[in-house]
Amino acid sequence: MIIDDQYYDVIIVGTGAGGGTIAQKLAPTGKKILILERGGFLAPEEQLQGGEVFKKERYRANEEWYDKDGEPFFPQTSYSVGGDTKTYSAELLRMREKDFEQVQHQDGISPEWSIKYKDLAPYYNEAEKLYNVGGQTGEDPTEPPRIQEYLHPAVNHEPQVQEICNIVSEQGLNPSHLPLEVNQDSDTKPGIATVKNYPNVTLKTDAFVSFLHTSPSGREVKAIEAQIGTESYLFFAHIVILACGAVNSAALLLRSNNEKHPHGLANSSDQVGRNFMKHLMTSLVQLRPTTNSGIFPKTACINDFYWGDKNFPFPMGSIHNTGGLLQNVMFAESPPLLSGLAKLMPGFGLRQLAIRSIGWWLQTEDLPDPNNRVRLKNSKLYLEYTSNNTEAHDRLIYRWLDTLKTVDRIMNNPLSRGAYPRAEAPLNVIAHQSGTCRFGEDPKTSVLNLNCRAHDVNNLYIVDASFFPSNPATSPSLTVIANALRVGEHLITNL
Ligand SMILES: Cc1cc2nc3c(=O)[nH]c(=O)nc-3n(C[C@H](O)[C@H](O)[C@H](O)COP(=O)(O)OP(=O)(O)OC[C@H]3O[C@@H](n4cnc5c(N)ncnc54)[C@H](O)[C@@H]3O)c2cc1C
Repeated sequence: MIIDDQYYDVIIVGTGAGGGTIAQKLAPTGKKILILERGGFLAPEEQLQGGEVFKKERYRANEEWYDKDGEPFFPQTSYSVGGDTKTYSAELLRMREKDFEQVQHQDGISPEWSIKYKDLAPYYNEAEKLYNVGGQTGEDPTEPPRIQEYLHPAVNHEPQVQEICNIVSEQGLNPSHLPLEVNQDSDTKPGIATVKNYPNVTLKTDAFVSFLHTSPSGREVKAIEAQIGTESYLFFAHIVILACGAVNSAALLLRSNNEKHPHGLANSSDQVGRNFMKHLMTSLVQLRPTTNSGIFPKTACINDFYWGDKNFPFPMGSIHNTGGLLQNVMFAESPPLLSGLAKLMPGFGLRQLAIRSIGWWLQTEDLPDPNNRVRLKNSKLYLEYTSNNTEAHDRLIYRWLDTLKTVDRIMNNPLSRGAYPRAEAPLNVIAHQSGTCRFGEDPKTSVLNLNCRAHDVNNLYIVDASFFPSNPATSPSLTVIANALRVGEHLITNL
């Protein structure tokens, strides 16, 4: 074991949306900061957008996890500097105002958050500025109130997507432009790239944090153990901030059990690892009679069913286009979607199919269930998950299929024939993982307090998506980023 002879003010573990953002917030304070990241730097050409990731083995973590039946799978997450923000689709939405309240879903309750939209709104402003978000207000009926206009214009729809949106509007729905991170140049991308030049910040890559050691009282993390190459290191800090992603932060706490924390660090509530959420996700494909470029971003969002409709008064979720399918051939290893397409258009190669198609992406909130959990058995990581709220998701799919059929009828699309091949995201698609260390006021039912500090451990914070008590159907990153800025501000004020 190599003992590092430095003493840091802050150690941050992980460099994704949560870790990279809080590093950026704290770096200008001059505090001595060490960042430990298990991955290395991705080359710029490897920083693919969205769906392309789904068909690339190298964006799957090189480790096996196990499902509730003990079947092994490869999780779809990338361990690299920047975390999943290096390969995400860059849609950065605020949660809706009502998402912070208790909401009745068809399958149960989505719990209230202990902070409200108005508490996070200033940090959403800061987050949108930091991540160069472009968008358009006044289109989406579910949009929360905002005091700051987007600083960049929305990205235009690809002409075919615009054409579909026009008809969808004529049907009484309200397609909007997705807020997106623009200027995604890897050199200017916020987060870790910009903090590593601060003299008070040290970044160690390929540093896998394996264990957190506490003081004899168990009330403070005293040392962080990390594997770098073949060596084990011990690092010391006043404050420790975890941002390993919802699954890995929970796994690290569960691994770090000791006499004072027999069921895992900070786990007197028995909530660490529980209430894992990931969204219900389905992609579907609409064949078009004319070709498109095949390479364009997701830009369109339809939230008219977000809170339900007159025939189903429960939240259903959000609909987006997927972006061009040539770069974004979704679930390329998942036969149903592609073989479905191939059946509709025999004789066409994948490329030809991709440029004759528009992909759609539907996502629905899944509800926190204590039995959906991260668990360690014999050092193996189990992700035990049974989806819920499935009827709401099915209804969303059928609402959208009905809309697409109308669109195709109006456009006189000879190819659609009412068939839209679709694929549901399997367990290993953990892109929107959240909820394994929920925050709250009561230490008996939550892991973190409202500042995202562990109830049980005075100097331990978590700023990734673990803190979510519910997983609203808006994509999670902007909320992770805004919350990291909020916690960063708390630390700056109070340290
Ligand atoms: C293909 C894809 C598309 C997506 N598109 C969108 C989108 O358009 N909009 C959106 O809002 N969200 C999107 N997401 C989700 C988004 O990327 C995540 O919500 C966000 O990155 C979560 O941030 P985080 O800080 O919780 O974790 P991450 O960003 O995953 O960061 C975790 C970091 O911790 C590191 N780490 C893990 N364990 C350890 C350890 N033991 N020691 C040291 N380091 C460790 C990892 O390498 C990583 O750098 C997408 C995700 C994927 C995979």
